[in-house]
Amino acid sequence: MGNILITGSSRGIGAATARVLAAKGHNLCINYNQSQPAADQLVKQVQQLGIKAIAVQADVSQEQQVMALFNAMDEQLGPLTGLVNNAGILLPQMPVEQMDAARINRLLTTNVTSYFLCCKEAIKRMAIKHGGRGGAIVNVSSAAARLGAAGEYVDYAASKGAIDTLTRGLSVEVASQGIRVNCVRPGFIDTKMHTDGGEPDRIERVKSAIPMGRGGTPEEVANAIAWLLSDEASYVTGSFTEIAGGR
Ligand code: NAP
Repeated sequence: MGNILITGSSRGIGAATARVLAAKGHNLCINYNQSQPAADQLVKQVQQLGIKAIAVQADVSQEQQVMALFNAMDEQLGPLTGLVNNAGILLPQMPVEQMDAARINRLLTTNVTSYFLCCKEAIKRMAIKHGGRGGAIVNVSSAAARLGAAGEYVDYAASKGAIDTLTRGLSVEVASQGIRVNCVRPGFIDTKMHTDGGEPDRIERVKSAIPMGRGGTPEEVANAIAWLLSDEASYVTGSFTEIAGGR
């Protein structure tokens, strides 16, 4: 089975993805930024499934920290076979006219620069031309990339639009190197991220506008990510999977 790195997996969709991948027998590098106790607890939980797992602190918006993260993975788990670019932030809701450069740049470096940096380190390890054996990358984007999040967080939506373009371009760039690059676009998923956006009950407010009438669970996103990483998706690259209840 593989050695997979999941950025931002101390909670939410990343943690659910760790649990699903561990159950399938993959070894895991669980990256976190601030939540060490949660990451350590998750490591213990998934190790009980008989896999190897490590927790590594790194702010993935910082290049040196990303390099150290991948080096720790090389040393402690072995050759990388898959990357889930998942770490992301949402900042308090406000219209574009109130956003300052500090906010916009913080959001873009955390949600976009980090994905580029992690893709770069993954390619250096997985590309056939670098002596790798190929692999798979799954980028976690958002339905917000399509919908725009007007009046809430257009900056966040735009960061996810960039991830969609990264997925399309990179999938073509590394296809001949044995690396598949795909994207999931979750809709309203029940995690603590909405609290960070200033509205813990956001899903309750918007659920009547979701055709399926409910938000999604982190596990429903994790299952799609696991499939895209798997050999069952061996001819799938540059794809976008909507996990948004029909929205
Ligand atoms: P979440 O519960 O808020 O979890 C975010 C995770 O990202 C945490 O583990 C956090 O770790 C980590 N993180 C944040 N900044 C980081 C950094 N600079 N470096 C490393 N890790 C960092 O969020 P979620 O809902 O699971 O979201 C996961 C992904 O799904 C994000 O990319 C998000 O945009 C996307 N998404 C979510 C929804 C939704 O409705 N929830 C919908 C569409 C897309 P620490 O706590 O250790 O800092």
